[in-house]
Amino acid sequence: MQFIDLQKQYSVLKKKIDERIGNVLSVGHYIGGEEVGELSDRLAAYCGAKYCLTCANGTDALTLALRCLNVKSGDAVFVPDFTFFASAETPALEGATCIFVDVEKRTFNLDADRLQEAIEEVIKEGKLIPKAIVSVDLFGLPADYPKIRNIANKYGLPIIEDGAQGFGGSIGGKRACSFGDISTTSFFPAKPLGCYGDGGAVFTDNREYYELMCSLAVHGKGSFKYDNVRVGYNSRLDTIQAAVLLEKLEAFEKYEYDDRNRIAERYTSKLGSKYVTPLIPEGFSSSWAQYTLILDDETERAEIQEKLKGMQIPTMVYYPKPMHRQSAFAGLPDRSAQLTVSEQLSNTVLSIPMHPYLTEQDVDFVANALLECKSR
Ligand SMILES: *Cc1c(COP(=O)(O)O)cnc(C)c1O
Repeated sequence: MQFIDLQKQYSVLKKKIDERIGNVLSVGHYIGGEEVGELSDRLAAYCGAKYCLTCANGTDALTLALRCLNVKSGDAVFVPDFTFFASAETPALEGATCIFVDVEKRTFNLDADRLQEAIEEVIKEGKLIPKAIVSVDLFGLPADYPKIRNIANKYGLPIIEDGAQGFGGSIGGKRACSFGDISTTSFFPAKPLGCYGDGGAVFTDNREYYELMCSLAVHGKGSFKYDNVRVGYNSRLDTIQAAVLLEKLEAFEKYEYDDRNRIAERYTSKLGSKYVTPLIPEGFSSSWAQYTLILDDETERAEIQEKLKGMQIPTMVYYPKPMHRQSAFAGLPDRSAQLTVSEQLSNTVLSIPMHPYLTEQDVDFVANALLECKSR
């Protein structure tokens, strides 16, 4: 059994994907081919954003968003402590100071009350300028945007939604990557919607932001490619990846998203009485980038991982180290006393196989193995 079975997905979609790739190869527009524009339009429509710009990866997408909002040295950017490194790395790369904020235990996402406290703290200290909130849709579930938006409005801060794992999730029918002033996603192969290499996208309803990010992504271009009005990047999604994504988006919309949810429901119904399973708040839906259990402690986690490994069931720990304990951020003021949930999660979370091509037998095999661990 695979943790995420991309070969299985390819075997199902092979004919259509091969055809699309073959078409790109014969037309010859390997950069900026027509598939790239078609994909941005489809992504914007799917997510409910006015504009979408595809780019080279999810990390670049965050960088484009931060540069667009003029995040720089002397600024404070609020980032969940429990996330993938890129959410925090990108503000730091712009010279800003990351203020790590604790997460809610059961959703793994930014805790709006802790966010408000952190903003107040920065204002009171008076050293940094609160500049932006990076909110992550961890494991496929959108963060609590109704609450986070209230706080953002109260302090006049823009939200960057890091939807690298959240693509497809929703709140009240409104889809992920439409909640930020700028939202970002990643098409890294293992994400809910992945390509066959690196890829990413930014989303916004703001035309000025969109135009600025279009310029930044192509060497700070002005009115044409060899007119450079600012220093930017080279961050493009290539045509072959766009072609792959067009096909995969169709499968995602038609059945993969639903299958992910069916599988997650089956896990929860089997495991819910013995394990702390993921909580999806009323009105929210997840695209299940991961299915993550919270165990009692590190010892239990190690034992369960070992036992499952012996049965050829792969498991992963996302994430073993919260941001405030990364050596790269060792120089930041110590807020660890306010980051206890992230700390606890990093010691107790365990993600189990999750992808839309798991069979019911696969799910039952994993669930039964886990139940057996608790029965001893
Ligand atoms: C994967 C990921 C990214 C970065 O995406 P890449 O395409 O790998 O650069 C950023 N944020 C989060 C939360 C991620 O999971």
